[in-house]
This record gives sequence, C-alpha cells and structure tokens, in this order.
Amino acid sequence: MACIHCGTAPVLRKDTATARMMVVCPECKARGDAAIHEARAWMSWELVNDADLPRHSCKAQGRPRFIQAGGQWGYGCKACNFADVGYATLEGAVAGWMREHRHVKA
Ligand SMILES: [Zn+2]
Ligand SMILES: [Zn+2]
Repeated sequence: MACIHCGTAPVLRKDTATARMMVVCPECKARGDAAIHEARAWMSWELVNDADLPRHSCKAQGRPRFIQAGGQWGYGCKACNFADVGYATLEGAVAGWMREHRHVKA
C-alpha cells in the first residue's frame, strides 16, 4: 500500500544487527513498527498507513504520523509541527490518536 503522506511505495528494511525489519517510506520516512517477522512488519505499516484514520484538528488537517522517541511511541502532524509521545506501543499511540480526534470528521 502506497504511503498516505506522499504516495511513494514503501520498502522493507532489515536491520542485520538486531534481525528485525520494518516497513518505511523512502521518501518521507513514515514507518511501521520493528518486527521479527515480515508479515508483522507489513501489518504494522498498514495500521499507521490507514487512509481512514482521522486527520489532525489543525487548519491543514494533516494526516497523523507515528513516531518513536526515547523508547516511547507517539504521534504528530507535520503540517503544524504538533507532536506528542508517551505510549508504550505503536498500537497504543494509534488508539490514542483515534480517541483524541474522533470528533473531527474529515
Ligand atoms: Zn511517504
Ligand atoms: Zn496539525
């Protein structure tokens, strides 16, 4: 599935040191979670790359970008430089985004 941010086809990156892989957008660096199995890496990409996710409540209505910082997951909006972390997992961050933005239907 092409990147919802820029339409680029994602690639599977393997980290030989940790034997983990993740799906990333080579253009805008959108990414899924690191996983041991390829199928899991693609599932994670589809989770964050869902065109049905609610958009940010800012003027530009940016699509959410999921980020990992300091061992925590979070989300942000590139259009207005909003970012918030504090989730243990990527799934938690996605659920948090949906909770906070459900009321603003794009
Ligand atoms: Zn992209
Ligand atoms: Zn925004």
